[in-house]
Amino acid sequence: MSDLPNTRTKLHMINISRAWQEILKRVPQPTNSSCPLTKSLGRFTAADIQSDIDSPPFDKSLVDGFAILIDDLQSSQSLAINETVHAGQTPTVPVKTGTATQIMTGAPIPIGTEAVVMVEDCIVNLESNTVTINNTTVTLGSHIMQQGKSLSCGSVVVTAGTKIRPAEIGLLAEVGCAEVPVAAQPNVAIICTGDELVDVDQHPQAGQIRNSNEALLISLVTASGGNAIPLGIGRDNAIDLSDKIQHGLQHDVLLLSGGVSMGEKDLVPALLHQADVMEVFHKVQLKPGKPLWFGQAENTQSQTLVFGLPGNPVSSLVCYMLFVAPLIRVFQQGAKGRDSQPESYAELTVPYTLRGDRPTYHPGRLEWISGKWSVTPLPWSGSADQQAFALANCLVFFQPPQHEYDAGEQISVLPFPW
Ligand code: AMP
Ligand code: MG
Repeated sequence: MSDLPNTRTKLHMINISRAWQEILKRVPQPTNSSCPLTKSLGRFTAADIQSDIDSPPFDKSLVDGFAILIDDLQSSQSLAINETVHAGQTPTVPVKTGTATQIMTGAPIPIGTEAVVMVEDCIVNLESNTVTINNTTVTLGSHIMQQGKSLSCGSVVVTAGTKIRPAEIGLLAEVGCAEVPVAAQPNVAIICTGDELVDVDQHPQAGQIRNSNEALLISLVTASGGNAIPLGIGRDNAIDLSDKIQHGLQHDVLLLSGGVSMGEKDLVPALLHQADVMEVFHKVQLKPGKPLWFGQAENTQSQTLVFGLPGNPVSSLVCYMLFVAPLIRVFQQGAKGRDSQPESYAELTVPYTLRGDRPTYHPGRLEWISGKWSVTPLPWSGSADQQAFALANCLVFFQPPQHEYDAGEQISVLPFPW
């Protein structure tokens, strides 16, 4: 390893918000793609989407009932039934004085109609084919939804850079957007480094552990809208790892886990340097997650953004939540995604003492108790303890110089988005 540059002596640490700013300014503009509507959940729109119709496309009934004229309500006479109009049919005769048309929810309103009366307020005489109405509170336009009331043809229904949720999918279906213009998903390559790692389906032998980071990172990337490309375990030797790094640099983002600390086999920073990946920062004032490395490839076409995540799974997860998940969002959402950090506050249920001098994210349980959000930090034995995180639903943020926190204090929390 003597020909590798020595990157282990750097002690300069930046803070969380500087680290995020450094990442943010290197995120490229979203690129356009498209996908079928039913596959678009979680993607981001790449253009404003307009309606190609009025909605509703015609004046329609909001209830099952009878289409009538207002003056006929006063007469309390029975009205002759013109016809019955079901949803999907069109009326053939207008409503005139002394007549009513039976109409179902969603059916077009006959010409002349002034209001629709609910069937519950009507008595139908089948023999004489007439209807008597028992409601005098109906007014002009009752139970009629006018054409274009919810949206009009040509109006923008979803703006560019919007995250597509089920609600957007329903709306886009209504306006005929079968193929949605979306931002391309970033391709995120994943390399987990370590001579000690064995595949998940293996039983670890002496000194070995299972490669939990690969499955964890694949699921995180998928959940945050990226396209995960696992490249397998990178062993702690320059030849194997360099080869994998070269493959990783063909993608938009490369995540490495492990090998970024001060150990003798922590080769990642030096090998990235050798592969012309410019270091932007190494080490962040953060717990867990201090060893985080970030840089950008200089000579590849994709100018890959590269993260050297700490090896411990929980440190990887915290760094991912703070830096990689927002990056994947901005990659697709552009400027719209830049300032929406999903931070909230909750009341601490127990006192807490912060040890050490780094801002700390502690696994916590956020619950709605007696009409307010409360949060309890969970017992946790550090960055290799995944069990505590499986019981958690948020990160609780403790920030120096404050070290003693009282029960009842409002505290910043970062809810898990999954
Ligand atoms: P490192 O930064 O490579 O020294 O790794 C720090 C710690 O994380 C060590 O205890 C590793 O064994 C552990 N670790 C590294 N990679 C993984 C992984 N893929 N899955 C689970 N634990 C890991
Ligand atoms: Mg290692």
